[in-house]
Amino acid sequence: MNTRHPAIAILIALSLTAAEKVGELSLPEEGRRWWAHVEMMAKDELKGRDIGSEGYAIAAKYVATEFEKAGLKPGASATSYLQNVRFIQRQIDESKSSLALIRDGKPEPLTLGEHANIGIRGAFASKLEAEMVFVGYGVKIPEANYDDLKDVDLKGKIAVYIAGQPAGIAAPLASHYTSAGERNKALIAAGAVGAAAINNPRTSDIPWARATLARLSPAMTIDEKLPASDRLKLSITINPAHAAKFFAGSGHTFEELQSLAEQKKPIPHFPLTAKLSARASFKKSKVASDNIIGIREGSDPKLKNEFIVVTAHLDHLGVNEKLPGDKIYNGAMDNASGVASLIEAARQIKDANLTLKRSVAFIALTGEEKGLLGSTWYAQHPVFGKEKQATVVGNLNMDMYLPLFPLKALVILGVDESTLGDLARKGAIEAGIEVWPDPAPERNSFVRSDQYSFIRNGTPALAFKFGYKKGTPEEKTIQTWLRDRYHAPGDDLNQPLDKEAAARYNRVLTSMIRASANSDEAPKWKDASFFKRFAKN
Ligand SMILES: [Zn+2]
Repeated sequence: MNTRHPAIAILIALSLTAAEKVGELSLPEEGRRWWAHVEMMAKDELKGRDIGSEGYAIAAKYVATEFEKAGLKPGASATSYLQNVRFIQRQIDESKSSLALIRDGKPEPLTLGEHANIGIRGAFASKLEAEMVFVGYGVKIPEANYDDLKDVDLKGKIAVYIAGQPAGIAAPLASHYTSAGERNKALIAAGAVGAAAINNPRTSDIPWARATLARLSPAMTIDEKLPASDRLKLSITINPAHAAKFFAGSGHTFEELQSLAEQKKPIPHFPLTAKLSARASFKKSKVASDNIIGIREGSDPKLKNEFIVVTAHLDHLGVNEKLPGDKIYNGAMDNASGVASLIEAARQIKDANLTLKRSVAFIALTGEEKGLLGSTWYAQHPVFGKEKQATVVGNLNMDMYLPLFPLKALVILGVDESTLGDLARKGAIEAGIEVWPDPAPERNSFVRSDQYSFIRNGTPALAFKFGYKKGTPEEKTIQTWLRDRYHAPGDDLNQPLDKEAAARYNRVLTSMIRASANSDEAPKWKDASFFKRFAKN
């Protein structure tokens, strides 16, 4: 289409929606700007932006510079955008670690990396031998009257479970209780000393072959007291291809249990005949990294002390020498794309000189890939430049929203849980975009990224994905992307994307920020929401 003809130009102008007028620039131009940020953060030279690395530091500096250009004030202190976060890093030393099944007193060694892996996120014991009990999905959901752990003697034992959830439980409830933190808490309360997870290959994103490559990478916790959920003495993951070994002699086959799990049917609970013996050795060190915080101050003298916090994680998985190809986890969509959107939304707000009553903090977070650590830290230490008394009233998070096809509709995770969801929906609709339900609630996306750190702290939060419907080519595109590129070197700068769709998304984001920042009342959880329990008053 030729847009230079005056009549056509008028027709196009008339068809523009409110949000499309936000930007002075054209969609393709905005798409190019967004992509330029992605290129800067996801290029090979930054080596996958692992926390504590030089590549991450370069990316952090880039974001701080772009925040400044977008008119944001330093948010970590009066003069700095960088909030320092301290971590403890643990790495397994497999030469001094081992796992074995003990049957009739005889050890049957397991091969680390092939049969099972030892988790490194907690403060684990160096030696442990314990009986094992199979506990189905291993979850306790009081509100749904569901309890895999009742009538099971777990005292001093290792709980073996299939990652998943029973049918008929509302998505947010299931998401919450199947999160590692809540599941471990329930297991500890039931007396378990260890946990052994079997990922169902039919429902998990990452095949064993890829997940096992990451086992030698360091894992981190923030350098504060460990949460109760991290106090198991041992945590392992079992390769589903070898899970049958664990069930030998139990009267059940893994095949049968896996099939029940796939159909979300009730799964029996029973003791396993073998004991598990573990020896684990870890190397420990300290690491520091930064959250990058930029602030757009609100215009209303009262409401400006309330902050809408817009977040996207900047860190990714670094480099893995064991990988084929260039060994670099560029993390273009996961999640340079989201940070690029943070920068673009801030720029749009400045360019259009939008009035925002509340203040908005734009934060590129560190440590998401290590377990939502940068956001956990921030939620506990919410700094706002000089405004120390300010409070966080809402969080809009982006993590891998996947602009792989035109933006027809947006999925807003958590949309029905809080009035923040109503505001975001209004913002999206004002920008000419529909809001669709989550097409894959079983992926538990609502508790799988940084918004969860805010939720647990009582703050209403949302996250966004490109909308698609089941059984469409778009669903296929997403599934193929997850299989081939998610947490793989293929998430780089050479992948098919719809950059104009990303630009359109950025306008919708700006519209949602505006709606959230300008409401008369601060967002709150709905009475019926499960997540209301975390609210402080
Ligand atoms: Zn990721």
